[in-house]
Amino acid sequence: MQSPRRFFIRTYGCQMNVHDTQKVANLLHHHGYAAAAGLEDADLLIVNTCSIREKAEHRLYSDLGVLRDWKADRPGRAIGVAGCVAQQEGDQILRRFQQVDFVFGTHNLRLVPSMAEAAAAGQRTLRIDANASLERFDFPDRHPAFAAGTPARAFVTIMEGCDMFCSFCVVPHTRGREISRPAAAIVAEVESLATRGVREITLLGQTVNAYGRHDLRRRPGAGADTVGFAALLRRLAAVSGIERIRYTSPHPIFFDEDLVRAHGELAELCPHVHLPVQSGSDAVLMRMRRRHGADAYRALAERLRRARPDLAITSDLIVGFPGESDADFEATLQLVRDVGFVDSFSFKYSPRPHTPAAQFEDAVPAPVAQERLEALQALQRAQTLAYHRSRVGTRTEVLLEGASRQGAGQQAGRDPYHRVVNLSAAAEVMPPPGALVSVCVVEATPHSLIGTLDLAKTADSARQPLKNGAGSADERIRSVVAGG
Ligand code: SF4
Repeated sequence: MQSPRRFFIRTYGCQMNVHDTQKVANLLHHHGYAAAAGLEDADLLIVNTCSIREKAEHRLYSDLGVLRDWKADRPGRAIGVAGCVAQQEGDQILRRFQQVDFVFGTHNLRLVPSMAEAAAAGQRTLRIDANASLERFDFPDRHPAFAAGTPARAFVTIMEGCDMFCSFCVVPHTRGREISRPAAAIVAEVESLATRGVREITLLGQTVNAYGRHDLRRRPGAGADTVGFAALLRRLAAVSGIERIRYTSPHPIFFDEDLVRAHGELAELCPHVHLPVQSGSDAVLMRMRRRHGADAYRALAERLRRARPDLAITSDLIVGFPGESDADFEATLQLVRDVGFVDSFSFKYSPRPHTPAAQFEDAVPAPVAQERLEALQALQRAQTLAYHRSRVGTRTEVLLEGASRQGAGQQAGRDPYHRVVNLSAAAEVMPPPGALVSVCVVEATPHSLIGTLDLAKTADSARQPLKNGAGSADERIRSVVAGG
């Protein structure tokens, strides 16, 4: 019997991209392909790209240079380019890189098997057309090997696209306009995941808490499938077997009272919100077209904490946005202190194609932007460490993910606050990945907590392996997803 063609997917960028990779891997699996252990093993390579920053885009071009030799090494190999750079650059990629066989955009994941077949027949294809149909959410049932990067955890797409058009952001151009998936389809997918041992779901969308807003506006009362985000959370919290719900990334202006209240009322909703703010200066926020000011953000953080006092808030920040003065940057530092971010991702501004900010003339000199980035990150490191130290001596619950990066036989997982917790215990008592375990926090480091397993408080069910061999699936998907 002929062995199946093997694929390998190299993924850059956000969780949405990681999840798109899972969908493509699953589709290829359903079309008779097998996952390759590594690049050398593969017949088909897909590079799933990110264009949120210039640096990420340049990585694709340097990758493709090297991959010319990879393709030439064995006849029949093919290369596909996916994701936001594919959507943005389209046929330029095919023209510039003869080694690329097909390019597909963010709305066309479902076409991958047919494009890969065309490549095997020697044809080069491009599909970056926009697709406003709900069909783009329809994928075959997830094979356990491609359901999630971690046993017991899964991403679930609830909406795609963005209508906000922040002045620095390329996403509305690469991901298209907002489209929300019917609630019934989301609930059905989550129920199916729960029956296969998934305990924690992360709901994904570019502006995830804007879920359903257009449907609600256009078709008020139009049936069971048009609900607001908070109502969706309540439905998913009721799914048997789902113990943790997270969502990313929300926009500050879409927190209505119902959503704030949900944080106090739903035990399944994790006490962590990743809430991008980008800047603490009203003037910069205005030029970024974020549609809120710094005080409105502070007030939202307070409302959320009134609903859930132990809430951990993390954020995204940009420094060196055109026109950012020393005073503007100081306002950002002040907001980081005032809100007490537990962690944040911070970047130097880089101009992106098709965005208004790329035309702004008052660029911040690179050394100044670098200095600000370092100052911001130093402040954040101190805050993160202080938060970690405040957790020492407390008990937490960790969803085990697998071997820790720290090595030495340690296991790692995340607690409800999305903190990484490393713990060690004898192999015979350590529950398998996917188990929820009770942990005493004994030490704090800048990047993680260190804990000891509290076996007496760890439920018996947590020590059982997951259904359907999902534990071994972790290794499979790790071999498929690279980069980040
Ligand atoms: S809300 Fe703004 S930053 Fe976020 S994806 Fe949309 S345009 Fe980009």
